[in-house]
Amino acid sequence: MHNIRNPFLGLLGFAESRDLAGIRNDPRLAADFTRTNLSFGIASGLLLCMLSLILLVGTYAPFSEGAVLPVINATFVYLVLLVTNLVFVVLLYRERRRFHGVAEKRTARLLGCYTGVNMVLASLTFYSTQKDSSFFFEYILVTVTILLIPNLGFSAFIRNVALNILSVVLVLFSSRHPIAWQDSLDIAVLFAICGFVNWLRWVSFLQTEENRFAEEKKKDELYQESRTDALTGILNRNALREDYPGFLGRDLTIALLDIDSFKQCNDTYGHAYGDRLLHEVGTKLQKVFADSSDRCYRYGGDEFLVLSLQGDRKAFLNRLSEFSSSLQHRSEGPGITCCIGYLCGSAITERDLRSLVQRADQYLYQAKAEGPGRMAGSLTPVRKNTLHTPGQGSVLDRLQSVDEVTKQFRDRGLSSQSWNIAYLDVDRFGEIVEALGTREGGLLLENIIQTVFRYFPEDILVNREEDHFVLFSTLPREDFAQKIRGVQAEVFHLEARHMIVLRAGLLRHEASEPPMDFATGMYRAMYAADSILVGTAGREPLCWYDQDMEEKRAKEIFVHNTFPNALQSGSLIPYYQPIVGSLSGTTCGYEALCRWMDPDRGLIPPGDFIPYLEKTGEIYRLDLSILESVCRDLRDHRSQFPANIFVNVNLSQRDFQQANLPEEICRIVDACGVPRRQLQLEITESAFSDSGLIREGITRLQEAGFRIWMDDFGVGESSLSAFMSRKVNGVKLDQSFFADVANQRTQIIIRSIIDMSHETNCMMIAEGIENLAQLQCARQWGVNFIQGFFFSRPLPLDALLSSPFVGNLTNADTDRFYQAAAEVHLSSQSAPGFYLSGKHSLLTCRAVLEWGSDIRVLRADDQMTALLQDFGCLDLQDADRILKKDSALAAKLSKAIAGICSAQPVADFQILLGDRTLHGQLSLIAGGPEKKRGICILNLMNFTLTRV
Ligand code: C2E
Ligand code: CA
Ligand code: CA
Repeated sequence: MHNIRNPFLGLLGFAESRDLAGIRNDPRLAADFTRTNLSFGIASGLLLCMLSLILLVGTYAPFSEGAVLPVINATFVYLVLLVTNLVFVVLLYRERRRFHGVAEKRTARLLGCYTGVNMVLASLTFYSTQKDSSFFFEYILVTVTILLIPNLGFSAFIRNVALNILSVVLVLFSSRHPIAWQDSLDIAVLFAICGFVNWLRWVSFLQTEENRFAEEKKKDELYQESRTDALTGILNRNALREDYPGFLGRDLTIALLDIDSFKQCNDTYGHAYGDRLLHEVGTKLQKVFADSSDRCYRYGGDEFLVLSLQGDRKAFLNRLSEFSSSLQHRSEGPGITCCIGYLCGSAITERDLRSLVQRADQYLYQAKAEGPGRMAGSLTPVRKNTLHTPGQGSVLDRLQSVDEVTKQFRDRGLSSQSWNIAYLDVDRFGEIVEALGTREGGLLLENIIQTVFRYFPEDILVNREEDHFVLFSTLPREDFAQKIRGVQAEVFHLEARHMIVLRAGLLRHEASEPPMDFATGMYRAMYAADSILVGTAGREPLCWYDQDMEEKRAKEIFVHNTFPNALQSGSLIPYYQPIVGSLSGTTCGYEALCRWMDPDRGLIPPGDFIPYLEKTGEIYRLDLSILESVCRDLRDHRSQFPANIFVNVNLSQRDFQQANLPEEICRIVDACGVPRRQLQLEITESAFSDSGLIREGITRLQEAGFRIWMDDFGVGESSLSAFMSRKVNGVKLDQSFFADVANQRTQIIIRSIIDMSHETNCMMIAEGIENLAQLQCARQWGVNFIQGFFFSRPLPLDALLSSPFVGNLTNADTDRFYQAAAEVHLSSQSAPGFYLSGKHSLLTCRAVLEWGSDIRVLRADDQMTALLQDFGCLDLQDADRILKKDSALAAKLSKAIAGICSAQPVADFQILLGDRTLHGQLSLIAGGPEKKRGICILNLMNFTLTRV
């Protein structure tokens, strides 16, 4: 049964709707198909044996004479059916036992033979049908058993039906027995029903298989991920632990490598540099030790373990020297050196192996003592009786390995019972060992294990990696957590000079839930442990794996698996959200915000994938790709995006770990012929106070002509210092400020920030403006640009091009015209109603007005706003804030404006509002009569005249 393509599916649109093409050609599908069919075949064969036996007995019943077709004896027919099926059952059973997971032609032939022969035998049962009975019951039973009980593919099904019909025709023809048309119809219906059921079975088989493959793939990926060190790309310690058993009993050459002065490099050039260095070392190791018998592991921070299973020790030593010199002659950057300790020997137990590695470590120390770049070791195999020094063989050796527990788990059928797993790891263990020394560090670890044993004497403890343990227990949920807390509290005080934080990620599996294997439970608990941020105030270092985490992890796995493809296939595209001049109302620019259009899941918001990409450092690939798309859009739609309209692109802090980021950005922008000034780069505020690498990157980008904006200003801890230390072109006030705009304290803070920014020549964007009230506040306080749902959500390019925003672009004149207005200081902050509280109280208030065909209040302080509203000059709900033409103030102002136009740029007037006369002063700050529009400051006060 090799061709398992089933056109039925295609006919009903099933195959097209799901991506089954991949699993169709998967050899595992064919194997599963063969395996289940062998079992089904045996079952149906037994069924047929039973059937023929019953029928055989039936032929001796008293009324069983007089068959329709007396040519062959019915007893003979059933005997043949019985014997044939008995033989097939034996053959199929043998084949099933021989089956080793690969679909072979032989098996398919046997199954084909079995079903085909039975199809022919089915027609022979006609001979037994009694006279006057038109219902060929036996024939139907045999046919249905064969057509339904094995899972037939399409071609096998058709072939069997054809065989069956052919033999029926032959039997009837040979006996010249007439057949009623109703019987032919019945047979046709029978085949149709069998075909349909067969199809349903095939569909459900495919679906089950698909789910199974997906599950396997996920597990496999998690497994590979758990074995690989993310930074260097080579195997990690967990892989080493798992691989240990494979090394036993073989001749090994082992080398431990340690990069010289790594810590200093890290401190001097930053962690990002250190990470790059480790990555480079990992890559070089893989290149030099590419032989299939060599294994490279990251052993600790900057320590690497290389192990060779090959006999040629000299060659291995040569590879070590080659590696060492390749580090000294790097293509970029200064050379680095590493010390190496090596030896050879063989190990019978894991304990021997650990001792060998320890011995290599001693050689490494010896090499280090001699100076940088040295090697020390011996090629004489270590003798077994010298391997263990007394005192070794700690509690660590009493712990089980993941493999052992996985096996026990399976054997004891624990996957469908209730239990807990805790993933325990010692926070900053590396640093602690560095401070305590290896020996004391080892003792500390033993103490921790003893503590766990004391609290959980009955339970299983697995050592997964040096300071990572997995505890398995069947205690009730709360007892388990309580005891873990007890362990944590004790461990905390184990060491006098250090606080030892034992992080615990917990997972509970209930018997009522779907079965879960040990490894899955362990990875989930590990995920929970990794999510614990030690040192976060008020949070205990204990965390349960829950539904939220499951969803987050599923998303991460999705991103991990799909991101590279999505990037290539152009599924990640920019949406554009307009940025509008706060006073002009014209479009000044856009922010490009990334969207992922997944063919299956639809639009995925950035919050679902950016955090993971930032975690893995892949974010720079996304950011550069978005930048490139933006540049192409700008190039292709020059007339809609003239050079004065800016586009803001987001950069992540992690992008700067890519040392050539500024050059890459320049290359992309220049290749599209887009002026660099048109692009503004948004970087979150915390980046500005971070390591030298980011600061240097920002400076280089500014020097290259890009404008830099500080994003999410005010949410970080470093807002003000960031402001002071950097010359940025603009600041984006975080959304949270405007969400809370009614709050007096927030108002004071925002105003101060805006004043500060104006004084340092820095533009202000208000983000997240959703309603008129927020918009009015932003205008009043002098924010230059507005971005938010009030104007528009982020739009795809097509929608943007047909939106009103591209028809209302700003220009340099407009910008200049309104810039002055935005920066006028409106100082009054006293409570509205002040001017009403007493006749002799002081009133002074200020507004910025624009005049042209109407008089518009661009900005006004609180008192002026209250005054204008109270005297019916202005409707606050009017987004344009046009002064009412019929109001007394409008009339006065029109006259004063006429005055400004004819004579000097300042005009005074008096106006009676309510029971008081106010003195007004109007001064022109932009535009003028020749332009037929202008901007003036209006001051109103009561201290010159009080005439009641
Ligand atoms: P952000 O840079 O602070 O972007 C502004 C976010 O606020 C956007 O969310 C935007 O849609 C949303 N927003 C805009 N106006 C309003 C409003 O009036 N009300 C509310 N409630 N929200 C508003 P979005 O697009 O979901 O992006 C979320 C974050 O993802 C961005 O925050 C940014 O940090 C990140 N991001 C988006 N695209 C990229 C990218 O290409 N690269 C990088 N590194 N980060 C990106
Ligand atoms: Ca942004
Ligand atoms: Ca923002």
